[in-house]
Amino acid sequence: MSKTLHIIGGGMAGSEAAWQAAQQGITVVIHEMRPKVGTFAHRTGHLAEMVCSNSFRSDDHESNAVGLLHWEMRAANGLIMEQAAVHRLPAGGALAVDRDPFAQSVTARIMAHPLISVSYEEITELPTDGHWIIATGPLTSGALAQNIRAATGADALAFFDAIAPIVY
Ligand SMILES: Cc1cc2nc3c(=O)[nH]c(=O)nc-3n(C[C@H](O)[C@H](O)[C@H](O)COP(=O)(O)OP(=O)(O)OC[C@H]3O[C@@H](n4cnc5c(N)ncnc54)[C@H](O)[C@@H]3O)c2cc1C
Repeated sequence: MSKTLHIIGGGMAGSEAAWQAAQQGITVVIHEMRPKVGTFAHRTGHLAEMVCSNSFRSDDHESNAVGLLHWEMRAANGLIMEQAAVHRLPAGGALAVDRDPFAQSVTARIMAHPLISVSYEEITELPTDGHWIIATGPLTSGALAQNIRAATGADALAFFDAIAPIVY
């Protein structure tokens, strides 16, 4: 069995997972379908593109659960929080970032890591061996979503979201 960790999806979750594993000395391959295959919300081929609000919500780690999560991600030397600090925008007590330079910087950091490579391809089947993380988010491509649904049961899939529309 391969000792490489494969991650499907190079969004914020997949990028952070890749970073954390690689920092532990594990070889990682991120399989990201963009820019070859797009979604209705993503606009670029960058990793960690924010398709939602540019806010990571409250940064108050003493009285807000989201802020506490930020604190924990910083304590774990997380890549997303590192680059959020670099590209932070004024937003009161919230942690908001300049989304395009943020995604570009996360992509550059991932690309520069000696243990991480990125394979630009859509994964359509659920892997049957090896070590995999599926981090394809709410816009998982159709074929993979169908296979996840078949394996787990349609009623088992749910996605909860805050409403923050983007106006282009
Ligand atoms: C229109 C919209 C608005 C949103 N607004 C908010 C908001 O305001 N606040 C909030 O907290 N959340 C919001 N969300 C949810 C938001 O998507 C998540 O917060 C965040 O992006 C999740 O990160 P992720 O890494 O899980 O998924 P993503 O950032 O979507 O990353 C998943 C990656 O997987 C890739 N991928 C998908 N399928 C495949 C495949 N088969 N093979 C290879 N690669 C694949 C995609 O290209 C993408 O890069 C919104 C989502 C949408 C769609």
